[in-house]
Amino acid sequence: MNALCTVHYVLFVTFYIDDKFLLDYNVYMRNITELIDILSERHILSYEEYLEIISNASESQKDYLFSRAEEIRKKIYGTDIYIRGLIEFTNYCKNDCFYCGIRASNKKCERYRLTKEDIISCCSAGYDTGYRTFVLQGGEDPFFSSDDMADLISSIKKQFPDCALTLSFGEYTYDTYKKWKDAGADRYLLRHETADKTHYNKLHPKKMSFDNRIRCLKDLKSLGYQVGCGFMVGSPFQTCEHLAAEMIFLNKFQPDMVGIGPFIVQKDTPFGNMKSGTLEQTLIMLALIRLTLPDVLLPATTALATIDPFGRELGIKAGANVCMPNLSPVSVRKKYALYDNKKSADEEAAEYTQQLSERMRKIGYNIVTDRGDRKHANIEQ
Ligand code: SAM
Repeated sequence: MNALCTVHYVLFVTFYIDDKFLLDYNVYMRNITELIDILSERHILSYEEYLEIISNASESQKDYLFSRAEEIRKKIYGTDIYIRGLIEFTNYCKNDCFYCGIRASNKKCERYRLTKEDIISCCSAGYDTGYRTFVLQGGEDPFFSSDDMADLISSIKKQFPDCALTLSFGEYTYDTYKKWKDAGADRYLLRHETADKTHYNKLHPKKMSFDNRIRCLKDLKSLGYQVGCGFMVGSPFQTCEHLAAEMIFLNKFQPDMVGIGPFIVQKDTPFGNMKSGTLEQTLIMLALIRLTLPDVLLPATTALATIDPFGRELGIKAGANVCMPNLSPVSVRKKYALYDNKKSADEEAAEYTQQLSERMRKIGYNIVTDRGDRKHANIEQ
């Protein structure tokens, strides 16, 4: 066991957030099991305490972490798994994120766009299978004007009034986000990618800005969207310290949803020779997120299912409560290639919802036909 765990020492910690000293207090560095218990009860740890768990948890302590996360997830969401039908409607993107297979400079990416009719027929097929949330995801594709998107949003909401609509296509102005909210959008997913500005600049070209990403997240929140942020686990240059800082960021931002998954190499990007993130570290982060934000909507992502055949199940057992099978037309699925070998068949595909349901039942969970909104648990910190 690491020396830090055994030596109980007193550390003076100051939380410095947004130009304010929020709290100063003495923290006893306890052993990791104790830290997990405290997190389960108080839903917050210090940066050093998160770092200790992320860096030094033993196998049995990780199992304990997962079991505490599953316990709290069951307390709030029971054994329900919310499903979202993911429609990847365009893989054109004006951005050039160094990690992403649909980046503008990737000439090997075979581009496609769905029409409004295509998208609505995906929703129809999903509705008939029991989906009550549709997620429209895409690259930042200027082909679709903000008015085109508003028209699409209001058409979907008119045709499927009992469904929630989640948008996920990047950074826009306050006014554009407002237009889409007024058109009926309910949720917006915009991963911040990393809470560390210097790290952000290593993952993105100069044209892209951490400050703008955060501005977008704040605008979305102020407009009343249910907001999701998130990051890749094991992205190039990421350290355990960055991951501990993620937890402080999430605690401060208090999102409704958090999308995390392992970074997976895409061979035609500048990071094509880097190492992918791991299943284990992703599971640790899922469990820490569940314990920190007990009622958050937390998907077991496609990236997790891609790096391990049981990634989805293991994600659920570590605290996740959402799955997002693919509702896009089969002909385009392989083209939305964010990373190599991205899973788009079998239980990642909406046609296999019955099989997904069976797999969930085997681990004691059940897929529900529900919008799957966040349940606001009364959490005191
Ligand atoms: N354009 C929208 C945006 O910027 O939020 C949504 C599409 S973007 C491709 C969706 C997410 O895919 C990103 O936020 C990123 O975290 C994830 N992603 C991209 N490349 C990845 C990779 N190589 N491995 C894992 N996840 C990746």
